[in-house]
Amino acid sequence: VAAAAAAGRDAEGASGCPSAAGSGALPVLSEGVCAPLADGSEIEYAALDYAASAPVLRRVWEEVAAYAPRYGSVHRGTGHLSRLSTEVFERSRETVHRFLGCRPADRVLFTRSTTDSLNLLAAALPPGTRVFVFETEHHAALLPWAHHGHEVTCLPAPASPAAAVATAAAALAAAPAGPRLLCVTGASNVTGELWPVRELAVAAHDNGARLVLDAAQLAPHRRVNLTRLDADWVAFSGHKLYAPFGAGVLAGRRDWLDPARPYLAGGGATRRVSRAADGGVDVDWETGEARHEAGSPNVIGALAIAAACRALTEAGPEALAARERRLFSRLRAGLAGVTGLSELALFGPESARVPVLSFTLDGWESGELAQALAERYGIGVRAGMFCAQPLVRRLLGEPGQAADCEGTLRAVRVSFGAGTPEEHLTRLV
Ligand code: PLP
Repeated sequence: VAAAAAAGRDAEGASGCPSAAGSGALPVLSEGVCAPLADGSEIEYAALDYAASAPVLRRVWEEVAAYAPRYGSVHRGTGHLSRLSTEVFERSRETVHRFLGCRPADRVLFTRSTTDSLNLLAAALPPGTRVFVFETEHHAALLPWAHHGHEVTCLPAPASPAAAVATAAAALAAAPAGPRLLCVTGASNVTGELWPVRELAVAAHDNGARLVLDAAQLAPHRRVNLTRLDADWVAFSGHKLYAPFGAGVLAGRRDWLDPARPYLAGGGATRRVSRAADGGVDVDWETGEARHEAGSPNVIGALAIAAACRALTEAGPEALAARERRLFSRLRAGLAGVTGLSELALFGPESARVPVLSFTLDGWESGELAQALAERYGIGVRAGMFCAQPLVRRLLGEPGQAADCEGTLRAVRVSFGAGTPEEHLTRLV
């Protein structure tokens, strides 16, 4: 930013590098942003790290910008803008409810992110809940359960979607009586592979358990319908769904959420607070969504998520997915011609995927390769273990060929989505 400012240019690249967008890509804010190359030239930045954070849809930004002057405090004020903001916030909730195909009684809670959503659910589980989770999960789905005091059964990585269902069913059937929760991802953030969510939900319910779907990687690429999937809860992040800002969603059944201890203690989550006769503080907590949304809510984050939901729905999730599939198979065909490149896959090379692909390249340490892609080609990817260490360790084997100088296993991850022009992918190949 400093360098761009010093060069007298707009730090956001609005001065513009020629953009490759078009041919069905949805307009995003990063179009035409210039990336400086090591040789002093510049090129349009190729954002190929959508799995970490996707570029913001132009249309989402326009809705945020249109609303910004009318922004006021939510739920508290009586003034015009407070009322308007409260309406925007609650209408955003309704939009997300529809987008996720929620059952009528389902709650939609605005959180900070998928991590926050899963921690909220972990904090709300009935006492004594045993949680089942595959070792292949993102740390955000793997870690909150024990952190909030629940017994966790960490299931081994399955070799196929069918094995995942069989493993989960057997583990749930063998578990002692009591509340049980199965936490699964819809699509892996390392391999992009799709998980059999509906079948896992059936297995969970057949064995007296509930299922929470981590849709952080699924929601940007596929229609997620809670009712059809028969999932009990779903979590996703706005910043991976083409929205800016620190907002996320937890949606699903109210029966475990409503009686739970409020996730955060503070204003907005209370009905009546008074000094208790014994000198302490008495609190009568709110019911409904407000119970778990203490503090001033992120109304712009909620509005942005709702705007992204509307934009994706109008563009047509099936059409977007078909375009991504086409581009993804061209990318894979191109990368298959790169000598020494190995893709990471848990279920096998032919498994169904969203456009997320991790690889190693013989002769290259992954961090250095990612840096070279940035410096020579203006391409942004990610190198590392992608917050899924047990999975990456399993896919790469014990420390060895893919390890950096500290012995850490690393791969390069490429991921793209609705705003990606094909040129960014051919440049990468
Ligand atoms: N789950 C999956 C599958 C993810 O890929 C990520 C982020 O990469 C998360 C959860 C956590 O999302 P956030 O960092 O937005 O909380």
